[in-house]
Amino acid sequence: MTTITEALDIIYQNTSIIDSEILPIEMALGRIIRRDYVASFDLPRFDNSAMDGYAIKCSDASSTVELDSIIYAGDDPTSIVQNGKAIKIMTGAPIPKGCEAIVPIERVEVNQNQITLPKDIEPNAHIRRAGEDIKKGSVYIESGERVTAYVIAILASQGVTHIEVSREIRVSVFGTGDELRPHFEKIEAYQLYNSNTPMFLARAKELGCSVGYIINSSDDIDSLEESIKSALNSDIIITSGGVSMGDKDFTKEAFINQGMRLYFDKVDIKPGKPTAFGKIGETIIINLAGNPLASMVNYEIFVRAIIAKMRGGKAYYQSYITTRLRDEFKIKKGKYSVTLGVYDNNSFTPLCKQSPGMISPIQKANGFIITSPNIEYIPKGSEVKVIPIDKEAYSSKWEEFII
Ligand code: AMP
Ligand code: MG
Repeated sequence: MTTITEALDIIYQNTSIIDSEILPIEMALGRIIRRDYVASFDLPRFDNSAMDGYAIKCSDASSTVELDSIIYAGDDPTSIVQNGKAIKIMTGAPIPKGCEAIVPIERVEVNQNQITLPKDIEPNAHIRRAGEDIKKGSVYIESGERVTAYVIAILASQGVTHIEVSREIRVSVFGTGDELRPHFEKIEAYQLYNSNTPMFLARAKELGCSVGYIINSSDDIDSLEESIKSALNSDIIITSGGVSMGDKDFTKEAFINQGMRLYFDKVDIKPGKPTAFGKIGETIIINLAGNPLASMVNYEIFVRAIIAKMRGGKAYYQSYITTRLRDEFKIKKGKYSVTLGVYDNNSFTPLCKQSPGMISPIQKANGFIITSPNIEYIPKGSEVKVIPIDKEAYSSKWEEFII
């Protein structure tokens, strides 16, 4: 049986980074940048005033000088600061030649054209120097960073209109099971709404993927194989159900018939042992358990890892946050176990009601812990490593997140 760590290792090794595309910066939010960006000019481009004030000579401190002219932001000034004179200047306007400091408006006394300056004026005061923010020729964004509002700001400040980013990952989602019906249909008392497929789909979108193909298959190997053929232009196919020991559990077999190279098919994890990972061509296949909580937990651990690696980010290893157990924690010994719970700034509280087939705990939880087989008790107040669900925690190196 494959351990969680080995399974992640196999995933990282066999998941290739998606190709890139060029997008307008406004359209690239959330994408991963795929090359370094080098400043083509200094920022600020020119020395400019940090305040609304007066451009003066420092030797005129505590004297009364005469107003010479006014420079507004957007002007291209020709005037020169002379001794005994001041040039009024607005924030962001270019510093005129000869200027030694800017004195803010609130520090002077104005009497018509006469301006009385304070006695303490530091040379260079309130002057923003060219390149003090970004130096021409420096790398201001590195490959592997994610596009945020602030990344868009810095790109725009450099006049960049388009950037090279990872393209969207195309995901296909399969639900399998004769008992399942879509949530918008009327069902019989012995049937069940398919909740995994909409969950997988929504989570893939939350993680920045596009969902292209959705299939809800009966437990029939031929129709399953037909659906697989139609989904092979996806980057990832995620399935749930039909991977256990039941008489109608055909999912893995159907993928193998369609040429899946299997990398692992049983993970030492509770819940979710029958999780399988493989590839058909370059398409990644992950078969998750049918039980909703089991599939969700393994989605969070393994599908998230596939997506994190595939999209080309610098940091794709699972990380965690450290907090304290609100109460003592007891668990049956002998397995690597995932326990869903709720964390806040101070503590982690396992959900007391959780089992693989349930749905309500996956809606309540915002994180989980993974404990080793030897753990059966952790005292109240102990530090624990929590893997968050409600935010992404990744590292650029391997982190031990199992307790
Ligand atoms: P299986 O792995 O196909 O034996 O399914 C295990 C359990 O999960 C069964 O109780 C199924 O009814 C349930 N299940 C499978 N797929 C889904 C799904 N898409 N949505 C909700 N429950 C499911
Ligand atoms: Mg089934």
